[in-house]
Amino acid sequence: MTAPTVATATAAAPHGEAATVEFRGLRRQFGATTALDGLDLTVAPGELLALLGPSGCGKTTALRMLAGFEHPDSGAVLVDGQDVTSVPAHRRDAGMVFQSYSLFPHLDCVDNVAFGLRMRKVGKTERKAQAQELLDLVGLADKGGRYPHELSGGQQQRVALARALALRPRVLLLDEPLSALDAKVRLTLREEIRRIQRELGITTLFVTHDQEEALSMADRVAVMRDGRLEQCAPPAELYGRPATAFVAEFVGTMSRIPGDLDGSTVEVLGRTLPVDGDAPAGRAVDVLVRPEDVKVAVDDDGIDGAGFGRIVGTAFLGATTRLTVRIESGLAGGTEVKADLPTHEATTLTAGHAVRVTLRERPVLVAPRTATA
Ligand code: ATP
Repeated sequence: MTAPTVATATAAAPHGEAATVEFRGLRRQFGATTALDGLDLTVAPGELLALLGPSGCGKTTALRMLAGFEHPDSGAVLVDGQDVTSVPAHRRDAGMVFQSYSLFPHLDCVDNVAFGLRMRKVGKTERKAQAQELLDLVGLADKGGRYPHELSGGQQQRVALARALALRPRVLLLDEPLSALDAKVRLTLREEIRRIQRELGITTLFVTHDQEEALSMADRVAVMRDGRLEQCAPPAELYGRPATAFVAEFVGTMSRIPGDLDGSTVEVLGRTLPVDGDAPAGRAVDVLVRPEDVKVAVDDDGIDGAGFGRIVGTAFLGATTRLTVRIESGLAGGTEVKADLPTHEATTLTAGHAVRVTLRERPVLVAPRTATA
């Protein structure tokens, strides 16, 4: 794809400075369902913030409230400090891209992108020129005359993005824009959306249920649970220092290993490790461990304090191989633990192999015990 020109970026640029968006105590009830239960969140100017969470946690409802398609029972939506809660959707100045491409089938790409400009009575020559520049920006410079049915899904979504940007919105709202696309196109479009968003510096809220998508694209990821914010942090922090057991288990892979809590340390697999963050009451806890923090060695390798176990599964992931080890001794007996090893170290480790499992020496998250051994 050709690099966009300065003129292109100017045509697509949002009005003035990037906007700050604030959700304050948003609540929304649908019958017996609480979609939002006091959501507080601030999106910084020019930031791409991903809303991530399990199905039904209120992500789309929050996005629709910013667009003005949905109204809170209580709470407020602010853009640059101004309360827009009761401002109708068509005056919100938000560009939106949905999961389904929702292009006008009877209009070609240029006219699809120019549609909003036409509604705003921008002259034909001017709006066609602006639409063409936006199509350049999204990598479809030569597709202006095509109709939606003549485009691939990924191309249609690029047109939808160009159309959302045509009115130079102050905020860009993306609701699962990639989920209808195949894996390879998704990856390319992730990078494209990120590049365009950065280039325009437009404040963007991105709804996804795909954690990899959220972690790879966003400046910060807001994890929601039951209509509330669980944690909002940059991807590396969310993954490396999850604030709660829910975030730890929702983002990435975690094994739960029974441990014995004693004040600020926990004994697990024969090793005593410091506890990261708050510890629950009682001694019976689960220690939450990422696969990269689990060490596996053949049984007679002699690692101190390691737990005895047996490999019950292996999954080739490319550069790494993920082993599933069933612990066979001690408090953690019966627990399955995931461990990532460089593939070249894992070639001889097959199902049935007796191994010793130990954890890296680092603070660990603990949660009340739920694991059944
Ligand atoms: P998903 O990832 O499945 O799209 P989500 O996190 O975006 O989920 P929402 O679409 O915001 O969740 O819905 C939150 C809850 O509110 C769900 O239980 C949903 O069924 C309910 N809900 C949302 N909109 C409505 C509506 N218009 N009428 C009734 N219930 C609704």
